Amino acid sequence: SLKKVELEEMIRTVPNFPSEGILFRDITTALKDKKGLKLIIEDFTKRYENKGIDYVLGADARGFIFGAALAYNIGAGFVPARKPGKLPAKTVREEYTLEYGTNAIEVHEDAIEKGAKVVIIDDLLATGGTAKAMINLMNKLEANIYELAFLIELEDLKGRELIGDYSVYSILKY
Ligand code: 5GP
Repeated sequence: SLKKVELEEMIRTVPNFPSEGILFRDITTALKDKKGLKLIIEDFTKRYENKGIDYVLGADARGFIFGAALAYNIGAGFVPARKPGKLPAKTVREEYTLEYGTNAIEVHEDAIEKGAKVVIIDDLLATGGTAKAMINLMNKLEANIYELAFLIELEDLKGRELIGDYSVYSILKY
């Protein structure tokens, strides 16, 4: 649609970041655009309002930006999934592999009640490693995952395949 074309033009592509050969999709240029930020949040809101969503789980750190605004709009709570060592109370942790080494994310163990309906959100779906770790965290807490939401999906990296049977929504696909 016209709005998506407009939004796509607001995403800056930076070659060789963070390392040689990577085409980084920079969302800060869309965030700083008054129309861009509104387009993104309105799109997510339309999809998840009146669906009985209890929580929006946002991935550290760009998932916080969309996640908090979306949760506010749909009357849900916001829960941050954070890099290790940031959350003060008792957490559950999930490790996942990167190209070089491993990473981990954590969520407070009492952040989400059993059976609560959750939307998982991040700015971008690449290999799906981060998303899969968020799914595993939610399964540890026995949450009910409604859908995973992204501004951008890099289709070549086949993140959807790693995510498996869960429903995935992305505003823009590259
Ligand atoms: P994955 O775990 O799916 O391989 O990578 C997705 C995670 O890495 C997301 O948290 C996302 O923020 C970050 N990421 C990877 N590539 C890019 C990119 O090109 N642009 C942005 N904005 N984030 C990226």
